[in-house]
Parts: sequence; C-alpha cells; structure tokens
Amino acid sequence: MVPLYYLPLDLDPQLRQEAERWVRRFSAFLALPPYSAPSEVRLVDQRLEELLHPALEEDSLPGMAASACEILFDLEDRQTGERPPPRLIVVCGPDSTVAQKSKAGNPDALWGGSVGCLAVVYRHEPTVVWHEMFHLFGAKDCYREEAPDESALPLCGEERCIMQYAPALGKVGDPPFLCAANVERVAGPWRHPGT
Ligand SMILES: [Zn+2]
Ligand SMILES: [Zn+2]
Repeated sequence: MVPLYYLPLDLDPQLRQEAERWVRRFSAFLALPPYSAPSEVRLVDQRLEELLHPALEEDSLPGMAASACEILFDLEDRQTGERPPPRLIVVCGPDSTVAQKSKAGNPDALWGGSVGCLAVVYRHEPTVVWHEMFHLFGAKDCYREEAPDESALPLCGEERCIMQYAPALGKVGDPPFLCAANVERVAGPWRHPGT
C-alpha cells in the first residue's frame, strides 16, 4: 500500500476539495488493472505540514523533493516500517512561492513538475494532476523535452497518452489512457515485487 499524501497550498476551499477528488480518482484507477497498485490517499495534517514547511522553502524543485522525501520516508519508517515509499502531491496556486520555485529550475514545466517522491501541480486540471502522479510511479514523458509542443503526436505514437505535453481530458479520457511502455514502468514493480 503506497501512502499518497495530498497537500493543498493556497487554494480556495472549493478547489482544494476538487483537487482532492482528482487525487482520490488517481488512487482508484491505479488500484485496477493494468496497474493493480494499491495506494492510500492521506491528507497532510497540520503537524505534518509544519514538518514539511522547511522542505518547501528550498529554492528548487529537486531541493524541495530531496528534503520532503527524507521527512516522509523517516515518518513512514517510524510509524509502520511500511514499504514501498510514500509519495507527496502538492497542488498549489500558480503564483504561490512553491510554484514559482518549481518553475524557476524548469521553465518548460508550465503546469507542474515532479522529482523523486514529490509532485507539484499549479495548473488545476485533473489530467495535469494525474500526469504528475504517474511520474511518481515511474512513468516518463512522451514528448521531446527540448521541444515541447502540444500539437505534436506523443513520442509513443498514442494520441491519447496522458504523458504527452499538455494532456487534455477530452483527449486522454477517464481513466486516462497510458501507453504500453509507461504501463510497464508503472505496473511492473507490482507484478514482480522485489525486482
Ligand atoms: Zn511530465
Ligand atoms: Zn505515451
């Protein structure tokens, strides 16, 4: 069971709930074939948010991820000794400090980014949340990072693949389509535990 922590930052109450539904929806379809990866959504409580606060003050996404992941891994080990490692999804306002710092290191990450166990999303669409969450489970982008183009066919050749640049809900669907290579990356570890 993967702990999936959700932290809304600088969101109005309605958006905070909506984003929580998108995160829960991801957990629901991840539990089903072809992934069959069980996860559990956990809301970051005030105490954990305070613990994570210094990590989110780091000045780049990789820096934030390194610190936040260490805090979460420690916490899980202390609480339960549970594996696999937890993941954290932060949904924040586009002008929030966390969004600004995430974009600073990666100007192409217009809507969100992810490193290690941490995903940060500042464009409020379910497909963007799911795209970044798939990264947390090993999926790779299906667009040329040096030339992102939302009108180009994804590199995997699948028009509906959610790992394309700027995935639209009308195109990728719900549950979203994921190309075979990425399904293997996400589902593989659950089929062959320990490899
Ligand atoms: Zn991506
Ligand atoms: Zn793809």
